[in-house]
Amino acid sequence: MDEKLSSVFWNIQQRNLGESEFIQAVKEVLDSLGPVLAKFPKFAEQKIIERICEPERQIIFRVPWQDDRGEVHINRGFRVQFNSALGPYKGGLRFHPSVNLSIIKFLGFEQIFKNALTGMPIGGAKGGSDFDPKGRSDDEVMRFCQSFMTELSRHIGEYTDVPAGDIGVGKREIGYLFGQYKRIRNRYESSVLTGKGLSYGGALVRTEATGYGLGYFVQEMLAAKNETLEGKTCVVSGAGNVAIYAIEKVAQLGGRVVACSDSKGVIYDAEGIDLKAIKKIKEVERGSIEKYCQTRKHAQYQRGGNLWEIECDVALPCATQNELTGRDADALIRNQCKVVAEGANMPTTPEGIAKLVAAGVAYAPGKAANAGGVATSALEMQQNASRDAWSFEFTDRRLATIMKDIHGRCLATADEFGVPGNYALGANIEGFMNVADAMQSLGL
Ligand code: GLU
Repeated sequence: MDEKLSSVFWNIQQRNLGESEFIQAVKEVLDSLGPVLAKFPKFAEQKIIERICEPERQIIFRVPWQDDRGEVHINRGFRVQFNSALGPYKGGLRFHPSVNLSIIKFLGFEQIFKNALTGMPIGGAKGGSDFDPKGRSDDEVMRFCQSFMTELSRHIGEYTDVPAGDIGVGKREIGYLFGQYKRIRNRYESSVLTGKGLSYGGALVRTEATGYGLGYFVQEMLAAKNETLEGKTCVVSGAGNVAIYAIEKVAQLGGRVVACSDSKGVIYDAEGIDLKAIKKIKEVERGSIEKYCQTRKHAQYQRGGNLWEIECDVALPCATQNELTGRDADALIRNQCKVVAEGANMPTTPEGIAKLVAAGVAYAPGKAANAGGVATSALEMQQNASRDAWSFEFTDRRLATIMKDIHGRCLATADEFGVPGNYALGANIEGFMNVADAMQSLGL
């Protein structure tokens, strides 16, 4: 970072003390922007960086709810509406005990650039709660979602802010949230939320989109090296919505996924992960992947194991932030991994990224590689606006094209700024320029 940018960054740090994840995300982007400010001094004059790093609006609210025994619980709800230069705020809701303002701000910040990269007219936001849906009954989750939406409903809308899912928020939660919004506002405003069920305005492919999009992106990364996924060994961390559909797409494209994980442990299946078994455990039973070995006897389960030590050509972190560290990067490099592409948001630590890039591993940041989810959310909004419903094949083709475009633009921008093959720089610069240009045009 040059001196000017360093001083801007220092001020941002001072304003956001203690928000380590947010600061990490800001630094990662600002580290890429030196050449852009040199080329376009107007962005510095207009203080675009200082403006882009300050959310337009942050909402923090109380979420009271009652469990099945009648006990009252209080959680904290968040919605950080970061940037609306390109369109209504757009981004997921995360329900997880780790959620705090720093995490929501880092996610919202990343979302600005990710959404810009999709080429769709959507701004960036994120929200959620420290509520833990694990082990809660459907009724408890419903009551929580209703209470959460009772407050959130004042701040969102088709033209204002359009939330979706993230960790801990899937179709079930979106259904309860949408129902409560509709009750409170007396408006069947389909595109106030995306990731809806098909019976009430949802779109085909949205469930699969983040994982499928990641698969398409990896296919492009390999094509850029004149290679394909055919016969490549892959490991995928996580066993949630992103991981499941990344595994499915990679397998369809010829790759062999031998391992996945959840918060408790890792499974290794040399014959390739049996997705039906994982889907049953995670989507139906909502249990731990340890159960996998009950039906697949040859597979191994390691409690608390480290997935990144397994030999692979392609590694896809699809669990959560900072799950792939410098030491994990060392292991991947030692095992001659060729490609790391992020299905989760910011899963690789700064040290991990630096090591991968220095070793010549093709590394794609989440804001490019996992943009298929939010891009398909924008397609859901399009279908809602025109009261239409597209076929699976048509939507999937659009998703594949969008991912190919994002990949191409990241590489073209990296080339233009003299860092060929550097997806992280390409993504940051490309995303930033789109938003900065719009912000400048819209005035202060
Ligand atoms: N939570 C997803 C993401 O990180 C999807 C957001 C959306 O569809 O609005 O991009």
